[in-house]
Amino acid sequence: SIYGDYIKSVIRTVPDWPQAGVNFRDITPLLQNSAAFRKLVDSFVHRYQEMDLDAIAAIDARGFIIGAPLAYELGCSFVPVRKKGKLPFRTISETYTLEYGEAEVELHSDAFKQGDRILIVDDLIATGGTMLAAAKLITRSGGRVIETATIVDLPDLGGSQRIREAGYGVFAVCA
Ligand code: 5GP
Repeated sequence: SIYGDYIKSVIRTVPDWPQAGVNFRDITPLLQNSAAFRKLVDSFVHRYQEMDLDAIAAIDARGFIIGAPLAYELGCSFVPVRKKGKLPFRTISETYTLEYGEAEVELHSDAFKQGDRILIVDDLIATGGTMLAAAKLITRSGGRVIETATIVDLPDLGGSQRIREAGYGVFAVCA
């Protein structure tokens, strides 16, 4: 995307966090920089403004940061995809495997209408497990996943390729 290199330059890499050997991509410097945050939101608005979306499904928790201004700007619904146990009403869930153990994402059963055009957003794709679970969950619930979108893709981990192989498009502001 047009601002990709600039956005990448304001994301910080923290070595050995949350554990030894992991290079964590920290987006807080990007959020602190109002010009950068505006360019980030604008990158998503530019891509999706003509796509006639019904809802932005944003993944708990950093996906919310981008999903909320995007839904506001595009004039569509905001739907939270949450970690297990956070949503109060009737839910449907999708379990996925992590390197060690399992995780689960949940959606309210009345979050959108059948056939709604939905964009899924998160801050980062690593193994792709989280994004793919969200896409499967929305598809199972009768939503049409128009695309999946992220600020950062780590292509060396194969996650975005895995998501594409499952039949979903992937847009990354910076790769
Ligand atoms: P995946 O399921 O693709 O392996 O991991 C992506 C999920 O974990 C996303 O929800 C993302 O927020 C979080 N995540 C994993 N690694 C990082 C990282 O280095 N930086 C940030 N900001 N989030 C990460």
